[in-house]
Amino acid sequence: MPPTPQRDFSAPTIVIGAGPHGLAAAALLKRFDVPTVILERSDRVGASWAQRYDHLRLHTTPGTSKLPGLPVPRQAGPWVSRDDYVRYLESYAAHHRLNVRLTTPVLRIQRAEPGSGPRWLVHTPNGPAPTDAVVVATGRCHAPHVPHWPGRSAYTGTLLHSARYRSPAPYRGQHVLVVGTGNSGTEIAAVLAGAGAARVQISVRTPPNILPRASARWHAVGRLTEALPLAWRDRSSLLTQRVAVPDLTSRGLPRPRTGLYTRNAREGVNPVLDHGFVNAVRSGRVEPVPAVQAFDGPDVVLADGTLLRPDTVIAATGYRTNLHDLVGSLGVLDEDGFPLVAGAETHPEAPRLYFAGYTNPLTGVLRQAGIEARAIAHAVRREKARPTLLAPRRHAPS
Ligand SMILES: Cc1cc2nc3c(=O)[nH]c(=O)nc-3n(C[C@H](O)[C@H](O)[C@H](O)COP(=O)(O)OP(=O)(O)OC[C@H]3O[C@@H](n4cnc5c(N)ncnc54)[C@H](O)[C@@H]3O)c2cc1C
Repeated sequence: MPPTPQRDFSAPTIVIGAGPHGLAAAALLKRFDVPTVILERSDRVGASWAQRYDHLRLHTTPGTSKLPGLPVPRQAGPWVSRDDYVRYLESYAAHHRLNVRLTTPVLRIQRAEPGSGPRWLVHTPNGPAPTDAVVVATGRCHAPHVPHWPGRSAYTGTLLHSARYRSPAPYRGQHVLVVGTGNSGTEIAAVLAGAGAARVQISVRTPPNILPRASARWHAVGRLTEALPLAWRDRSSLLTQRVAVPDLTSRGLPRPRTGLYTRNAREGVNPVLDHGFVNAVRSGRVEPVPAVQAFDGPDVVLADGTLLRPDTVIAATGYRTNLHDLVGSLGVLDEDGFPLVAGAETHPEAPRLYFAGYTNPLTGVLRQAGIEARAIAHAVRREKARPTLLAPRRHAPS
C-alpha cells in the first residue's frame, strides 16, 4: 500500500504586505523558525506610511506603536513623525532580517486542489506560489473611500481624498472644505487654517468624541476599565471630555451624544486626539458646518440646504479594505468587506488563512499589530507541530 502523504510544510508561509502588521507577523514567525516570505506590492517597506501627508505624526505613543522585538528610537520623541516611523519600519525589517519580496503584488488567493500538498495558491504576476499558511496584512486603510454624493462626478471644483493630501502649501489663499471629523480631517483642517488658507470649514455628520492628545498616554488606564459595562465607560468618557475639552457648541460643534466606547464598538470609530483642532475651532479659524449632502456644479450642498463654493474639498472620509479581489471568492468576508475572523482565528472553510490588521481597537492599531502577530505565530507553530494527514494522492510519489 502506498504511504499516506503528510501535509508538506516546506513551502514558506506567505505574509502579504510589508506594513506594520505584516512585518510583525513575519518577525514572530521567524522567531518560531517558521520559514516565511513577505510579498509586498510596492517598492519599499512601510509604503502606506511613506505615502501619507508630510506633517503627519503618530497619535499613539512610541511605547504603543512599537512592533515586537524593537523599540522606536528615543530620538523620535513623544509624537513620532511620519518619516521617523517609516525609518523605524525599514530598520525593523533589517533588524529581524525579514525576507521581503518587493514589487510583488498578490492578485488573488485560491484554494489548492485537495490532496495536492499545499493548501493555498497565492497568485502573483510571476505565477502561483503554493503554501500551507497565508497571513493577509494588506491594511484596513487600503483603498481611499469617497461617498457617492449626488452630483459628485459633475462637480467643477477640486475634490480629493485625504490620502492624496500632502501638505498645506498648495491651499494657501484658498477656501477649503474638509469633510469628516476623524483624526485625519481634524488635523488637516487645523494645519490648513494655521498655514495660510483663506477660509477653512469642516463638515460634521456626527460630532466626534475629542480627547486631549496627551490622553493617548493613559491607554493603560483605559485597559483597566475594559471589564466595566459599555454604558459606564461611555459616561466616564463623556465626563472626561466635559472637563478636558471646551464646549464648542456655539461654534457649531456640539458635544457628542454617543460615548467613544459605543462608537468604537458599533462603528469601529476611534476618538479624535486633539493637537490644535479645538483651538482652531474655538478661535474661528476652522468653521464647523453640517454634513455634505450633494454637489451641484461648483456648489456643495449641505444637509441644512446651505450652498458653499469652496476652491477645494478634501474628503477625509475613510478607507475600504478592498479584500474582495484577493479573497472575495472564499466566503471569508462580511458585507462590508472585513474578514469574518481575525488574528489567530481562522474561518472553518479557510484553515490557515489568517488576517492581521483589520480591527480598530481604542488602544491603537499599531499596538494591535504585536498582539495579533504573536497570536498568529503561535497558531502557525501549533499547526506545524500537528501535521495533518492528507487524503492519499491518486498517484503517490515514487
Ligand atoms: C493617516 C493615518 C494615520 C494613522 N495613525 C495611526 C497612529 O498614530 N497610531 C495607530 O495605532 N494607527 C494609526 N493609523 C492606523 C494604522 O496603524 C495604519 O493604517 C497602519 O499602517 C496599519 O498597518 P498595516 O500593516 O495593517 O497596513 P499598511 O501599513 O497599509 O500596510 C499594508 C501593506 O500591504 C501592501 N499591500 C496591499 N495590497 C497588497 C497586495 N495585493 N499584494 C502585496 N502587497 C500589498 C501595501 O503596499 C502596504 O505596504 C493611521 C492610519 C492613517 C490612514
